[in-house]
Formats: sequence, C-alpha cells, structure tokens
Amino acid sequence: MAILPVVKYPEKVLTTRTRTVERITDQERRLVRDMIDTMYAESGVGLAANQVGVSLQIFVASADQVRGKELVAINPVIIRKEGVIREFEGCLSIPEFYEPVKRSRKVRLRALDLEGRTYEMDGEGLLARIFQHEIDHLNGVLFVDRLGPIKSRLSKSRLLRRRPRMTGGA
Ligand code: ZN
Repeated sequence: MAILPVVKYPEKVLTTRTRTVERITDQERRLVRDMIDTMYAESGVGLAANQVGVSLQIFVASADQVRGKELVAINPVIIRKEGVIREFEGCLSIPEFYEPVKRSRKVRLRALDLEGRTYEMDGEGLLARIFQHEIDHLNGVLFVDRLGPIKSRLSKSRLLRRRPRMTGGA
C-alpha cells in the first residue's frame, strides 16, 4: 500500500494527453492499487493516473466510497451520452475550488478492467460526472477548462496566484 502525492494545477502532466495502455503488467496493477489507496486517503470519488504523475489512460472511481467496490477503467471512452446537467464540481488537483460545470446527465463508459477484459457501464448522476471528469483528465483537460472562455481564464489566473491548503474532489 502506498499513498502517492497528488499533482496540483498547473503541473504540465495534468494538461498533457495521457498514453494508451498497451499491456497490463504488475507495474500497472501496482499503480492501480496505489491510486485506489490515494483516492481514499484524499477522500476523492475518482482519480486519474496523471494526477499521480503517470501519463497513462487509467482512472479509478468510487462514487459511494466503499472500499473493495471501486471501479478501474483502462483506456476508457464514452460511447453514449444523454441530457445535460449543471452541478458543482471540484478536483483533487485544484484544491478548494468549486464551480458549476455542465456535463451530460447520463453516459455509457467502455473500458478495460485490470484483467484486460472490455466492459461497458452506464453512469448517471455523480457516477456520470466522475466518468466525464476523469476522462477529461486523461485527455489533459481540467474542469476549469469547461467554465466558458472568460470564467475559465479568470479562474486560472486566480488559481495561479493562491496557495491551497485543503483538498477535496476528484
Ligand atoms: Zn480532477
């Protein structure tokens, strides 16, 4: 078990698209275990690999925070979306910053599990939001990029000037 440091905005690894996972080896399995430990340690509901400095298409999620029931998504994509909903969002890489973000209300995720098997999963509510937030991370996109051009620019310049104290989010 290892809790990894969470990379904070504006580190470059957060704004760079991550690489596709070609093979799932012990190294990826260890990374996933550490990401799960880190997510719970930070009270997050989701965590992308580049948030712990590893540029790979992997995220973990736990909408209900129940240990042993977390979701592992490797090379994830959203294959269907439905509806629109605007709700407050936060991010472990941007501590103490919450803004409403427009997302699809319902999505279907397609990904590989740790055994390399393809699965599909429907997400609604918080789970749908986590899927979209984490896949954005893997594409080098942060939720502050989704606030609209003016608000996004203002938020980023504000974030660059402050010193965060606490964490919370995904
Ligand atoms: Zn995040």
